[in-house]
Amino acid sequence: MYFTPYSKILAARGLIRARKVPLHGGFTCPNLDGTKARGGCTYCDNRSFSPVAGSRAVPIAKQMEDGADYMRTHLGAQRFIAYFQAFSGTYASTERLRAVYAEALAQPDVAGISIGTRPDCITPAVADLLEEMAQSTFVTLEIGLQSAFDETLRAINRAHTFNEFGAAMDLCAGRGFDLCVHLILGLPGESPEHYRATAEALRPWEYHSVKVHPLHVVKGTVLARQYDRGDYRPLEQAEYVEALTDVLERIPASVGVQRFTADAPPEMLVAPQWCRDKNGVLSDLKREFARRNTRQGARVA
Ligand code: SF4
Repeated sequence: MYFTPYSKILAARGLIRARKVPLHGGFTCPNLDGTKARGGCTYCDNRSFSPVAGSRAVPIAKQMEDGADYMRTHLGAQRFIAYFQAFSGTYASTERLRAVYAEALAQPDVAGISIGTRPDCITPAVADLLEEMAQSTFVTLEIGLQSAFDETLRAINRAHTFNEFGAAMDLCAGRGFDLCVHLILGLPGESPEHYRATAEALRPWEYHSVKVHPLHVVKGTVLARQYDRGDYRPLEQAEYVEALTDVLERIPASVGVQRFTADAPPEMLVAPQWCRDKNGVLSDLKREFARRNTRQGARVA
């Protein structure tokens, strides 16, 4: 394999045939509730990336049971990672986070927890809580960066900076839980130089996995209006595959790749349609790695 599949990272931690079950912990996001901004990231509709975005009122135990049943039946899963995917999974009081995470971890066959969040929702108290949990279970914190360029982050209304990402990584380093970095390629105003520089900007920190996907246009978002006006052009598949190869060359081989394309529901996706074809992207990616005679981490200094 030219890149490190995430399953290899999980297997090294004894998590074989483990699947992530998406959960809604009842959280919102400071970029939506007015604390940092309103309206959210220009591409954001949580329903497009989280199948449980509408499950706020469903008890965690029920969400976990339903998700695990589905994965046992359809995917042969035996153990599960409770995945707080919707909105910002650390955006609540420490007491509430502790209770919500504990409820998920108490369900049958749950072998760990994965929490998606923003850099500005990672406080010292959150890091302390995750460090404590990591002493008894597998914990991964997924931090959305998207781009290392503040100008880009402003253009997509992320309402945080690269420095805030760095501060969150510093805060979490060496605490015994895993870190996953989330990147998006094809953001407005960016070019291959930006993608390469963003991957290189991660060098100061140790992280354990990445999620990378192309920016895709979802119905009803600010980005969809920009796309309709002709102000935004999504990447072509060939452009994305080249950019992704550039990025993976600059990410250490010890880092597992959790995601390399998008999976928005077809009824919500405006463009590009190719991003749902995971097998097509994977086969082009393998071809590009072979053409360059390269591999993940080949350009790590
Ligand atoms: S940080 Fe996540 S949940 Fe919040 S607005 Fe952006 S994409 Fe949406």
